[in-house]
Amino acid sequence: MESARRCALCFGFDGDLQRKKGQIAHIDQNSSNADAANLVYICLEHHDEYDSKTSQVKGITEVELQSYKARLTAAIARGDHLGVSAPQSGAIAKENAIRGHDERLFRQADELLQERFLQEFLNQLQSDDSYWISSASRIDTFRGTFTETGNQFIDTGLSEKLRLLIEGLDALLVFLARTFFVYPEQQHHADDTRLCMFPELNVDRAGPGTAESMRKYDKFQAELDKLSGDVRAAYDQYRLAVKHYLYL
Ligand SMILES: [Zn+2]
Repeated sequence: MESARRCALCFGFDGDLQRKKGQIAHIDQNSSNADAANLVYICLEHHDEYDSKTSQVKGITEVELQSYKARLTAAIARGDHLGVSAPQSGAIAKENAIRGHDERLFRQADELLQERFLQEFLNQLQSDDSYWISSASRIDTFRGTFTETGNQFIDTGLSEKLRLLIEGLDALLVFLARTFFVYPEQQHHADDTRLCMFPELNVDRAGPGTAESMRKYDKFQAELDKLSGDVRAAYDQYRLAVKHYLYL
């Protein structure tokens, strides 16, 4: 069979291409779905874990397993597994392990900061000069997670793009903390708070509408646009790098 008795999870996590005793598992965990696309060979150890969803395998999604399977199939087709005896060594194993690690990290990042969420956050900033505190703290969680040691892409290109994205987010968050205030002061949302950029300078909010205040406000708006644009560009670059490196 196409997996040549190599385990998709051993390969996905560690780039391990050793032959293992294993079983065919159902990716969707529905044993009546015997469609070839739903079947994957995994080693006995990982099979138990996948069934019980414990330990390292915990949290692994069907999509993830599908992607490991696809990469394993490609590796087998290239013959990467030929001549691999225990313990596996060499550049291929290392490269596969790095990709497995980086792919997991990307999925983790993508869950914390979904593309659509970020777009909406930036759109609201740029069109309404406001944001919800829950959104800002989500972004703060994202950047906190990836400035911790250990949570880094191993690939230097990817890790550089992520660093630039986090730098952009940092600059934006600092700006928001400096120029946005709770507005209106009385809010009726039990679990969230809306902040607006200098409401006392904004003629549509609490601003006096003087030329001076409007000129000041325009200056802040331009800065907000610049910082939001920087984040958009950094995010696009990051996604592009992920696409090229992980999914080519
Ligand atoms: Zn395994």
